[in-house]
Amino acid sequence: MATQLQRSRKIAFARQGGTCYYCGLRIWLKGQSGPSPLRCTAEHLKPRSAGGGDEPSNIVAACLHCNSTRHKRKRPPEPERYRTEVRRRVERGAWLPRPILAWGRTVSKPI
Ligand SMILES: [Zn+2]
Repeated sequence: MATQLQRSRKIAFARQGGTCYYCGLRIWLKGQSGPSPLRCTAEHLKPRSAGGGDEPSNIVAACLHCNSTRHKRKRPPEPERYRTEVRRRVERGAWLPRPILAWGRTVSKPI
């Protein structure tokens, strides 16, 4: 049975049209295929450590690369700030290797 977090992740994926909340690139769910950095993960807008829950309003869909890069930082930046920063880097082609970026820019097929 799916957990609340898994359900919220699917809802967020659909709400965002199959794109990452941060980088805006196409992401993929289990059962689909794609490059591993662009696999869909669930990101808590308000962190669990601050009392944020797994309900859909607190969950966005983010690619593995954006999610893990954000949490590697000592103090993860606020979601909105991080999003602005990531999008700038995507525009410069400085966020992911070129073939992965190219995959991420292709249009997702409806699920
Ligand atoms: Zn991303």
